[in-house]
Formats: sequence, C-alpha cells, structure tokens
Amino acid sequence: MVFRKQLNFLFSSILVLLACSFASSCGGSKEILEEQVLNINKKQTQDNISFFFKEMNNLEIKVYYQESSEPYHGSGQGNYKTWGLTENNLKKIFEEREQEVTLTVPKDLDEMTKITNPVQDNWSSAQISNVVTDLGHSDKTTEDKKGTFSIIFLDGYFVGEDNIENRNVIAVSLNGTNIIAVFKPVIETMADGNERLGRFVEQSTIVHEMGHALGLVNNGVGLTTPHQDEEHGAHCTNTDCVMYWQNEGRENLVQFVQRFMTSGNVVLFGDECLQDFKSF
Ligand SMILES: [Zn+2]
Ligand SMILES: [Zn+2]
Repeated sequence: MVFRKQLNFLFSSILVLLACSFASSCGGSKEILEEQVLNINKKQTQDNISFFFKEMNNLEIKVYYQESSEPYHGSGQGNYKTWGLTENNLKKIFEEREQEVTLTVPKDLDEMTKITNPVQDNWSSAQISNVVTDLGHSDKTTEDKKGTFSIIFLDGYFVGEDNIENRNVIAVSLNGTNIIAVFKPVIETMADGNERLGRFVEQSTIVHEMGHALGLVNNGVGLTTPHQDEEHGAHCTNTDCVMYWQNEGRENLVQFVQRFMTSGNVVLFGDECLQDFKSF
C-alpha cells in the first residue's frame, strides 16, 4: 500500500507538476498542489493561437540543453525515436484539422543545440526568457508562415516569483510565448534510474506543455464539449488524456509506457481535446 501510494504521488506529480504557467509553480504536497493549480493563469495570446491554426504551414521545434542536462534522444528500446512521440502528437492535431503543416522535430542529439550558459541552481521565468531570447527565439515569422517552439533543458530548478526554489516543477511554459523550459534534475529524480520511464515522463511532459501552448484546454482554443476541469485550470476531465491534471497511479502509468514503448505512435490527447482543435 505504501508503495502504491508513493507511485500515486509520483504520477500525480508527473501530470500535475508540468507546471504550466509563467508564474505558477507546484508544491510537494497534494494540499499545496491543488491550491497552486487553481492559481494557474496561463494564456497563450489570441494572436499566436490564430496564427497557429489559420496561417501557419511550418512548425519547428528547437531544442537547447545545458551540459549534463541533455534530453533523451535517439531510440530507446525498439526502432522508433523517442521524440517521435511529440512529433506524432503534433501531427495528429493538424491532421484532425486537415491543415497542412510541415513539422520539424529534432530526434537525435546532433539536431539539438548545447548551450554554454553557466550552470546555476535556480531559474526564474525572466532568466529563462532572456536566455532563449538571446538564442534568437521568435514565436513566429509571418513572411514564411512559420511557428517556432523553443524547448530548453536546464540543469537546475524553477524559482517562482516568491523567489523560492521548487524542486517539484518539471517544466514551465512561459505565458503567451512558445518557450518551454524543462528542469532535468526533476525528470531524473522521477525516473529514478529507470530510463524507459524517464523517456516517457519527458515526452509526455512536452506533449502536455505543447497542448497548453497550442490552446488547451479552453486556453485560446474553445471547448466543443464540456470537458474542462475548471477546478484545475486549463486541464481536461478525461482521465485518459494527457491534459488530465493528474493520473491515477501505477496501472495507468505502466499502460501509457507500454503503449508508447511498443508502437511509438501513440496519441496522448483524448478525443475531446482533438475535437476542440478540429473545430477551432
Ligand atoms: Zn498543465
Ligand atoms: Zn483532453
């Protein structure tokens, strides 16, 4: 039972602590979590949302990492690439919409960029934004109808506006931008030496954050059915959807991993979320 409880906590951490907002962070106990999730107020700009779905025909994911915080890359077990999960989920969104978008998603380390910023223990939203902006990030270029997401892997922890380091925050997406930061030590703690789990946690984190940045749930892209878990912000009531605010424990987690591991072609979004994209 104790073990089960720990796993429940672990997995609730996985999907909840994808800390979705500019200023929000998630605490280490459930009491704190729920309160903080309620406070999440992330918004993609309507300008970006309408660009993604009305104009964009080219979407590039750029990945940056600090030394010793490199993302999982290449293949795990099997032939498919780990980052194929992110790619396939993005592809599904645009297929649903019958919108032609060319996707560029790096999969091997030589397609990702190592950055040389000094290692620091803590990262604020402003510091993340500065680093990524210095790397030349721009959300979109209208001339060539291209959207860019920059995902940066940091060897440190998130520090919120309260200036307190939060070791439970896996990732943040910065409000109104296409910038996502992943705190690699947190991923490693969660994986606890299990590489397969680590690959899954990392990829599902990215799909979740991309979901928010692209307008889910009711975060710029409106609802077609009532599936927003308003109590937990821009999350989904469907427990099988990657946008669900938490998952339910070990069985679910293992199922997710196995589906991912066996096919590498798994849609993590539930039907309700896909329908919202389709109808937008
Ligand atoms: Zn979220
Ligand atoms: Zn959903």
